[in-house]
Amino acid sequence: MTDGFGLGNLPYGVFSIAGDAPRVGVRFGDEVLDLAATLGDPIFATPSLNPFMAQGRARWTEVRERITDILGNGHQATLHPLGAVRLHMPFEVADYVDFYASEEHATNLGRMFRPDSAPLLPNWKHLPVGYHGRSGTVVPSGTGIVRPTGQRKPPDQETPGFGPSRRLDVEVEVGFVVGAPSPLGEPVPTSAFADHVFGVCLVNDWSARDIQAWEYVPLGPFLGKSFATSISPWIVPLDALAGARVPTPAQDPQPLPYLREEEPWGLDLSLALRLNGHTVSRPPYAAMYWSPAQMLAHMTANGASLRTGDLYASGTVSGPSPDQRGSFIELAWGGQDPLKLPDGSTRTFLEDGDEVTISGSWGDVSLGEVTGRVLPPRR
Ligand code: MN
Repeated sequence: MTDGFGLGNLPYGVFSIAGDAPRVGVRFGDEVLDLAATLGDPIFATPSLNPFMAQGRARWTEVRERITDILGNGHQATLHPLGAVRLHMPFEVADYVDFYASEEHATNLGRMFRPDSAPLLPNWKHLPVGYHGRSGTVVPSGTGIVRPTGQRKPPDQETPGFGPSRRLDVEVEVGFVVGAPSPLGEPVPTSAFADHVFGVCLVNDWSARDIQAWEYVPLGPFLGKSFATSISPWIVPLDALAGARVPTPAQDPQPLPYLREEEPWGLDLSLALRLNGHTVSRPPYAAMYWSPAQMLAHMTANGASLRTGDLYASGTVSGPSPDQRGSFIELAWGGQDPLKLPDGSTRTFLEDGDEVTISGSWGDVSLGEVTGRVLPPRR
């Protein structure tokens, strides 16, 4: 049994055993293929996927074919039990961008943050809205998340206070990892998405809603987001998700020419959000309005270059039904409608000690999990 990690998947990560040097591996079932030892190529004896990702699409395809042959035909290979390895950050994050591509999520937040106006702002259906985040605080799954401290101003108070966030939240997202760079000044068209994007991971965009609500006007998210962003350890190659490709929802109005796609890159991924082991939501990625190819084209439309290791995330994935919402602010509707958990407790926002896990898959291809526990604020 390979349980989501069979020959159709073969995701890449970085591992070490008993304190030896971290290096690149490929997950196959409950084992990790040691690529440097098996292929004898020093590019895999590094603690990051970046050098390999920089080699580009033709090389990614060639290595995937070799690995498939080795594992599929039982050729000589160095494999380690998954339980014996420690997983690390799979790549060095260059720039980090977060989008806002779910119409349901943007509508829900618009209703809560701006109750007296139209939920979607006028630009939303013309461009994939996004912001630049903080790449240095992207952390691997399992990293404890210290409750952030900052300025927040409750609506019933006249002046802000400073202290630990009282509205700590998560965002269920999918991340896209750029392998092949692009030159400054040259926009990347939607049709070149697969030439640049190496693979896909799961992202938890931890969010302090009280800090965010007070600081975000007029320049967007800042300290309410930048304290931590968690990613899953295995980067699933785009090739493994070829069959997951589906049309995006109908886009009306038709986007400007630079955002059009002949064959859209919607992805039929099923996601799940667990709080302390209990599933609270199942967001469907196929409902996302903007595709990752459109996000890439928009991100470079001004001539901004891509670097190996750039990470861009989809924005919170929320579907149309209440049990498909990808954040607690939506699931508990801004605190008005607390979630009931099986142990009889309720939640609006996260409490210290809470453990949050996001998982995802397409058919028999698993994206694995990203998990993190909330730690008390530092004094
Ligand atoms: Mn986000």
